[in-house]
Amino acid sequence: MDHIIKKPAAAELARNVTVGRRPSREDAEAAVRTLIAWAGDNPDREGLRDTPRRVAEAFQEYFKGYGQDAVAVLSEPTFEEVGGYDDMVLLRGIRVESHCEHHIAPFIGVAHVGYLPNGRVAGLSKLARVVEIFAKRLQTQESLTAQVADAVARALEPRGVAVMITAEHHCMTTRGVRMPGADALTTSFLGAFADDAALRERFVTACHRGARSG
Ligand SMILES: [Zn+2]
Repeated sequence: MDHIIKKPAAAELARNVTVGRRPSREDAEAAVRTLIAWAGDNPDREGLRDTPRRVAEAFQEYFKGYGQDAVAVLSEPTFEEVGGYDDMVLLRGIRVESHCEHHIAPFIGVAHVGYLPNGRVAGLSKLARVVEIFAKRLQTQESLTAQVADAVARALEPRGVAVMITAEHHCMTTRGVRMPGADALTTSFLGAFADDAALRERFVTACHRGARSG
């Protein structure tokens, strides 16, 4: 069978690592102090004294996806009995909490991930984990969508993959152009979903029917 992924992922992976010495925790906290002072406040006042520590800890949560391998997670053996099931598998309404790489502002929304199995299936929770692994990095919504689709394609070698994400970007709603309520929609279709308009339509309709707002 033709593999639906043509490009190697190496360049994409290499892009996402610290270049040179990784700053220490102290370096990170000092940088937060600098930003507080630059914003116009006094980092030594009582309410702000522990803020650099808290922000560093929050960063560890927001960006814990670095160093996690989505393909490996999806490739973990599953022992689910699927009885020859070969129709679309679709997990809808996966919560997306990410940060835009342009402003480090949150973007919050929902992902829907579908694939057409080719003998191999993944546990449904693994699809949600893959979204989380890529979301917990500095991202654009476009890259996040493509990376999730790419990882599912690599790990499961399915006949097709479809990913749709809708998200509200705080860099747009609380600053800049200030457009509260506007959300962005991105899609990635690989294999059968790219080739077959009816299949794509089935995915999109099912996503809308099951959509929950972010
Ligand atoms: Zn932004």
